[in-house]
Amino acid sequence: MIRIQKSAAVPATLLSQDVSNEKARLNNMVANNQPIGYKHFKKDLYGALDVRHQLLTDQHEKCAYCETTLLDKGGGEVEHFRPKTKYRATRQRGASHAPAYYWLAYDWNNMLCSCHECNRIKSTLFPLVQEANRDIQHQNIGQEQPILVNPCQLDPANIMEYRYYLVCPKQDAQGNDNVQAQQIINNILKLNRDDLKELRRRHWQAFVNRMHNSQVDFDTMFRQKVAESGLAAEDVEFVGMYVNQKYKNM
Ligand SMILES: [Zn+2]
Repeated sequence: MIRIQKSAAVPATLLSQDVSNEKARLNNMVANNQPIGYKHFKKDLYGALDVRHQLLTDQHEKCAYCETTLLDKGGGEVEHFRPKTKYRATRQRGASHAPAYYWLAYDWNNMLCSCHECNRIKSTLFPLVQEANRDIQHQNIGQEQPILVNPCQLDPANIMEYRYYLVCPKQDAQGNDNVQAQQIINNILKLNRDDLKELRRRHWQAFVNRMHNSQVDFDTMFRQKVAESGLAAEDVEFVGMYVNQKYKNM
């Protein structure tokens, strides 16, 4: 995960009358205790072309979570940071709650673009540091501290880094792993899953091969080669591996 600079301009579809009507309809349903299901959200609105296009542009055509390129994956999927239909604080059976953050289904700040796998793995999982701070009833997210970092709002590099091609929690001065990062990496997104690990290993190996017969020390060579190869650019797949690498002081 890397920090994403999201466009301040909200795509026109999300400001349309159709979206206002949908929000009013959802609020009305909740007020009347009617259950809200997936079918009650309009994908042609939250997943409209202008929304998808802006998300992809802002994210340099990469998954907001795992950084794989979305260009060969049909442009990825519109992903709601806070789940719109149901949420779970844990993966345990029966942990699902509804309604979830239905009023944020068409909210630009709640939208990201992700690959299918990240979307599937995260699914409705959205734990908080303090579950007692969840206040769906009043549509109040002011007190929430989500475990998952929204890369448009916080820099994931504050709590996680790469060690070679593995994503790892940063450690404090005592050598303890950051617990929040642990949960994101191992549970919510599974960022070291086999397919991803293999993809990153190949990128990493190709990079290391370029440095092979050098006389310069590894750190210096690393920095030179990253710069030379243009690997520190935001649109590079897995750029975090080069710019947020524990073993190099970039
Ligand atoms: Zn992904």
